[in-house]
Amino acid sequence: MLAFDKTLKLMIKITFPDNSVQEYLEGISGLEIAKRISNSLAKEVISVSVNQEIWDITRPIYFDARIKLHKFDDKEGKHAFWHSSAHLMAEALEALYPGTKFGIGPAIENGFYYDVDPGNGATISDSDLPRIENKMKELVQQNNTYVRKEISKADVLKLFQTKGDEYKVELINELEDGTISIYSNGNFTDLCRGPHLPSTSLIKAIKLLSVAGAYWRGDEKRKQLTRIYGITFPKQKMLDDYLELLEQAKARDHRKIGKELELFAFSQKVGQGLPLWLPRGAALRERLQEFLKKIQKKYGYELVMTPHIGQKELYTTSGHWAKYGQDSFKPIRTPQEGEEYLLKPMNCPHHCEIYKYKPHSYRDLPIRMAEFGTVYRYEMSGELHGLTRVRGFTQDDAHIFCRPDQLKDEFKKVIDIILYIFRVLDFADFTTQISLRDKENKEKYIGTDENWEKAEKAIIEATEEKGLKTTIIYDEAAFYGPKLDFMVKDAIGRNWQLGTIQVDYNLPDRFELEYIGADDKRHRPVMIHRAPFGSMERFIAVLIEHTAGKFPLWLTPEQVIVLPISEKYHDYAEKVLNFLNNYDIRTLIDARNEKIGKKIRESELRRIPYLLIVGEKEVNEGTVSVRKQGEGDQGSMTLDNFASFIIKEVEKQIAE
Ligand SMILES: [Zn+2]
Ligand SMILES: [Zn+2]
Repeated sequence: MLAFDKTLKLMIKITFPDNSVQEYLEGISGLEIAKRISNSLAKEVISVSVNQEIWDITRPIYFDARIKLHKFDDKEGKHAFWHSSAHLMAEALEALYPGTKFGIGPAIENGFYYDVDPGNGATISDSDLPRIENKMKELVQQNNTYVRKEISKADVLKLFQTKGDEYKVELINELEDGTISIYSNGNFTDLCRGPHLPSTSLIKAIKLLSVAGAYWRGDEKRKQLTRIYGITFPKQKMLDDYLELLEQAKARDHRKIGKELELFAFSQKVGQGLPLWLPRGAALRERLQEFLKKIQKKYGYELVMTPHIGQKELYTTSGHWAKYGQDSFKPIRTPQEGEEYLLKPMNCPHHCEIYKYKPHSYRDLPIRMAEFGTVYRYEMSGELHGLTRVRGFTQDDAHIFCRPDQLKDEFKKVIDIILYIFRVLDFADFTTQISLRDKENKEKYIGTDENWEKAEKAIIEATEEKGLKTTIIYDEAAFYGPKLDFMVKDAIGRNWQLGTIQVDYNLPDRFELEYIGADDKRHRPVMIHRAPFGSMERFIAVLIEHTAGKFPLWLTPEQVIVLPISEKYHDYAEKVLNFLNNYDIRTLIDARNEKIGKKIRESELRRIPYLLIVGEKEVNEGTVSVRKQGEGDQGSMTLDNFASFIIKEVEKQIAE
């Protein structure tokens, strides 16, 4: 064996994200590189991307590479942090519940989970979490390192067979032959690709959140394992803030508020993930659609309507069948002819066929086709969540077919619509992201180089001209075109992705869409997919959580409630109601024989923006006493003045 002397080591070139290059001796780790930059950075780095592969921060690098150091504040850093925490929890579980077998333990968007089979007949419930949490804290004190080892598949198999962990054995059997990495922290060893923290000591704050049942591999015919959710942070303050956010999120949960306000419901009999819109929710959704229709009409969109199913062939042409067919609802067959239909997973193929129903000249373009199109996508029952993950939903969809030279203008117009919507619905805080192609691997993408250059330039210029703050991400574009995404921050600081504008060269090709150019030759139009809300379901969920159910006046189910102080004033209250209804002001009456204090409290819980109290004084003066939700008494007003005040408020809110 060769003894590697320091002097025999070669120099390697390390390229940083800002394209600066440094030379180091081969075998240097991400952590060592961080130390050379600064000690404080070294304390914070968690993992490192080495030529786009994420590595342990302590793993030696032996070749020229482009690297990026990750801290907890980026996605990759959090991932390694939380994934390492799952291993730590597993170590605690093994200590507390000997014989525990382990399924999978990934990092998720917020924290991590591990699916476990406690063995020996043990069960784990919420009340056991503090004990497991304490064991984790105790293990952190040991400051164990996460040790990576590469061994042969046969040896790994032997290891887990000896341990009697049939879940890991099943996973290993599915891996390709060759070396497999395993990681150990303390007494616990796991089959794992990594990456992990250098040691457990970085985990300063731990909270186990909940326990749920989860079928092994999501298959309900197989054993139900215990899924334990948790989250960890490098600082206690971060955990405190997160738990506070969780409390706030719970109070704003759209499923809870949707029930309280009677907006939507689910029925097991109708089917999982298929929302039922109750009258108040349906009316609210209708108002949102009308609002969008109006602005779209102004921008030259034309409404189309297409059926809820389409022939399978439509989706083999579009490519959706090949890509999603196996994981979607099965085809519907006709009894006689043997035709096959699919529930519509997307509106785009239908719209392409509308484009084709007649020939187009360059003068016809752009054609902007809009549809509130209901689509159906299979989601596993475990993935369903209120209105945000459903199996049937309505997209505020539109497709723009245009010439390549019209792309930038069309982009700017879509941006205008999205900005208007954000303003009216009070999403003041948002960022945008442009996803472009990976310039090193152009063969991954469909469409000519020239068209890509044009489209990318059009998006960048459109966002610049609209004064948007954007980040540009390379290698994030779909294979069929670059896109622009909007991320909004809600009232409690959570990010939601709303409003994607996507360029597409693929579908026009697959459907052989054409127009006759000024040169009398045939050309392909470019297609833009855009949906500012995404879907009505998801958007309304976000809106509920953003506003805590206190919708803007123009949108809210009831704008005003009249509260007579006693039965004596019911007639006058009716008069007020009729008067306001004549102005299309959505008004209710609370005619129950209850104390006024109780009526006020309950009206506020129903999140009705204006409360009108009427008694002796109001009857005599022909006025109403106005209370505003959350702001209290606003004094008295004549009926005329109140009606025009509401009308003006609404106009102000939706002004362009
Ligand atoms: Zn791992
Ligand atoms: Zn589309």
